[in-house]
Amino acid sequence: MALFEQGPVPNPKASSHDEHRMTRHCYGTLAGYGLLMPQAFRAYEELWSDLGARHFRPTKFLYVTREQSDWPAATARDLDRMGIPHRPLTPAEVSEIAPMLTTDAIVDAFEADGAGELFAARITRDLADWLRRAGVEIHEHARVGAIDAETGRVETGRGYHDADLVVVAAGAWVLDLLPGQKGRLAPSRQTVLYLQPPQRLDGAWRRAPVILDGSGMRGTYVLPPAEGTRLKVGDHSFTRQGSGDDDRIATAADIATVAAAARSSFADFDDYTILEAKVCYYTVTADERFVVEPIGPAGWLMSACSGHGFKLAPLIASGLADAIAGRRSAAGIPDWAAGRGGPDR
Ligand SMILES: Cc1cc2nc3c(=O)[nH]c(=O)nc-3n(C[C@H](O)[C@H](O)[C@H](O)COP(=O)(O)OP(=O)(O)OC[C@H]3O[C@@H](n4cnc5c(N)ncnc54)[C@H](O)[C@@H]3O)c2cc1C
Repeated sequence: MALFEQGPVPNPKASSHDEHRMTRHCYGTLAGYGLLMPQAFRAYEELWSDLGARHFRPTKFLYVTREQSDWPAATARDLDRMGIPHRPLTPAEVSEIAPMLTTDAIVDAFEADGAGELFAARITRDLADWLRRAGVEIHEHARVGAIDAETGRVETGRGYHDADLVVVAAGAWVLDLLPGQKGRLAPSRQTVLYLQPPQRLDGAWRRAPVILDGSGMRGTYVLPPAEGTRLKVGDHSFTRQGSGDDDRIATAADIATVAAAARSSFADFDDYTILEAKVCYYTVTADERFVVEPIGPAGWLMSACSGHGFKLAPLIASGLADAIAGRRSAAGIPDWAAGRGGPDR
């Protein structure tokens, strides 16, 4: 097996590279994905066992919305089916759990189990080491210029590599290899802010759950500081601008968008210090569902995109690996990865 990566492995420009990523069973109106989450958590358990390390901090999930939304009711239905405890919260209870949030205009709020922080950069670092030990040929700084999904041929500046099958998992660069996907898959420039909270809120942040403040998949998401990582806030609205090769230098406009979203979530946002503004690209689809499908007799596209792919990556990747190895039906993979296939594999 061979892996071709245009940069180092892991690549700090990749979507998968960051201090932390949120995981949760709560998926609201993006139907189908919530019910995949028990399997996604089990897939991570297998990963921890392979890596010999557990780069995960379990927390509660706190959801707050400041406008009417179907998200809480849809999520509650999924959580009940999965047996995940959850409870509605009053604004006063939100304030007790998360005194750093403003309770202005809260319309609905709930707390749920089964969530936490995945320490992404540590995971990709250990995974790269594990792949090397497992004998995977890793070609670093080897940009793939073209693939042939009829024959399984990969072309890099260094020559050709012939394989039985090629999987394109190119993140925000996917259109360079598969331009026909333009319009369906769109790279999106996203910004997150790392923050230093005011000292008076240090303790509250250390105890804080992961937070989604918004309506549906829009709004502010917050990862509390823990285990050497910093407080991070992001804005889930997609820009659908740019491409993977663009620079990662945050502009004043990039920062202003996230700061405005954070200001409507946090009480006293101006008391926080912005330590770093980080630009990251991912690929989005109109309905936020993943695209995992055959692109020829010897090729698959795997685009685990739209800002929620990290928590599902081991599950979706092992599902595709099973299909390629003939351990499950390949025909069901596109719907399953799009959250339309039900939880059973
Ligand atoms: C700001 C931000 C916040 C997010 N928050 C969350 C979250 O809280 N929870 C969650 O579950 N998900 C989250 N996500 C989404 C998640 O990180 C992504 O869905 C996931 O990491 C995508 O992984 P990937 O392997 O598809 O892409 P990537 O990690 O980008 O990997 C693709 C790799 O392919 C390489 N490549 C591309 N083209 C070529 C080529 N031609 N030749 C050689 N190599 C090539 C790239 O260099 C890159 O290393 C977030 C993403 C961002 C950007």
